[in-house]
Amino acid sequence: MTKQVVFCDFDGPIVDVSERYYQTYRQGLQAIASIHTRATEKALPINPLSKHHFWQMKQNRIADIEIAIRSGIPANWFEPFIQQVQKIVNHPSLLLWDRLQPSAQAALCHLRQANMRLVLVTLRHPQQVNAFLQQRGLTHLVDAVYGIADTNAAYVNRVEQKCELLAKAIAQQTAKGYQTQDSWMLGDTEADVIAAQTMGLCSAALTCGVRSETYLQKLAPTAMHSEILLAAQAVTQTAKLQVASLS
Ligand SMILES: [Mg+2]
Repeated sequence: MTKQVVFCDFDGPIVDVSERYYQTYRQGLQAIASIHTRATEKALPINPLSKHHFWQMKQNRIADIEIAIRSGIPANWFEPFIQQVQKIVNHPSLLLWDRLQPSAQAALCHLRQANMRLVLVTLRHPQQVNAFLQQRGLTHLVDAVYGIADTNAAYVNRVEQKCELLAKAIAQQTAKGYQTQDSWMLGDTEADVIAAQTMGLCSAALTCGVRSETYLQKLAPTAMHSEILLAAQAVTQTAKLQVASLS
């Protein structure tokens, strides 16, 4: 029997990027405050949000400009602020804040035991993905990685870019003889859900990432789960039922 592919996003389902994004935001505020002081000889009274508040705003897709203004950045200083954020978010010292999601290893093992082929489709640079997996001894549980050479792509999270990448992954995996019909795409943002829907895959939206349950629900994914292990279990369960109904 041909192996069934499961497509999965990286940031959100597998990696908890919340602390890296928060630390980046804090460093961005500091940098703008000092540049502002140097340029105007006046201190900028910045007022950083708590991690909880910051992440809640990101999860509800509040625009970065609003987050900046609420933190004390004047509107005309938003452009340098966001440039600073995008410049440092992939710095090695900030990448160190990336954490493995608590159930990610168990989920990857579960898919492997169910004889499924795990293909990562991510807007991260493949080198960053491979380094992270290697450091945690997880490389052998991932069958292929489709990434983007532009390190800014992940933060910007463009839907069209994800659609193109998923289309390429499906085409190449199908050409290699793997089963991609009835495949699932697991992810934590609109980019993943819309890409899955566009390509005719089932979509599982995970609420452990950068979007809230309320936000994801509006996109009408096939399923919603709080973490990747539950999604992996549901995917293998569906696959078993499909095999049973065919035999
Ligand atoms: Mg993601």
